[in-house]
Amino acid sequence: LDNHNATLNRLAAIGEVSAGIAHEIRNPLTAVKGFLQLMERDYPSPHWSVVQSELEQAIGTVHELLSVSKPNLVSEPKTQFSLCAIVENILSLFHKEMYRVKVHKRFHHTKAMVYGKQNQVKRAIFNLLKNAFEAIENEGTIVIEHHLSSDSVVLTIRDTGSGIPEDKLHLLGTPFFTTKETGTGLGLSQVYSTFYEHNADITVESNSEGTVFTITFPTVSTGFDGSPVAELTYVEGET
Ligand code: ADP
Ligand code: MG
Repeated sequence: LDNHNATLNRLAAIGEVSAGIAHEIRNPLTAVKGFLQLMERDYPSPHWSVVQSELEQAIGTVHELLSVSKPNLVSEPKTQFSLCAIVENILSLFHKEMYRVKVHKRFHHTKAMVYGKQNQVKRAIFNLLKNAFEAIENEGTIVIEHHLSSDSVVLTIRDTGSGIPEDKLHLLGTPFFTTKETGTGLGLSQVYSTFYEHNADITVESNSEGTVFTITFPTVSTGFDGSPVAELTYVEGET
């Protein structure tokens, strides 16, 4: 336990320092991005797209760091939205991965609405799905379920990946905890802080067969107007 506390303290200290650095470099990076767009127009070159995407990567990491440690610096107005729609949206970013990983969607009560910072929630669900795809080494399955349960929307993301060893479970969500060679260990920190801010509950179960994340989000509208509730179940990446 002492060892664990020492790890947490060390990671917390690193987090403090890097949040400060992230804050300092965010503005110059954003400025560079603006000027790049101008230069791209004045001096056409096929190399700009590489520079642009590398810069996006750096800004993304900085953003993630800030949203973990200084969430109020990445402010965003709150709106109503559907978690199903967000998942659909994110899955389109993983279309290449869906050749090796089958994605089953079991979406019920698709019109149920939640309230909050849509982009932040989108990023959190993206981070969970990215981990699920990364946990599956070759072929496997991800099952995403969405349904209403009393006053909550329940979203579960189940993967047949490598799983998380029991003695590592308590480290999930700690900034910089990663078991990947090129991981940042920031994804789940962003996930946990986002759902905490939205009064959503998140639990994880894992064994050597795979991992299940369950998110229970308060709903603001069931979308139920007396007509039959829209339901669909289908498989993507079947071919
Ligand atoms: P990163 O993905 O950069 O390593 P994350 O914060 O997203 O950082 O995840 C931290 C660690 O949690 C991962 O390195 C991995 O060990 C573990 N993990 C998270 N999600 C899963 C999953 N679905 N299956 C297996 N391990 C996972
Ligand atoms: Mg990750």
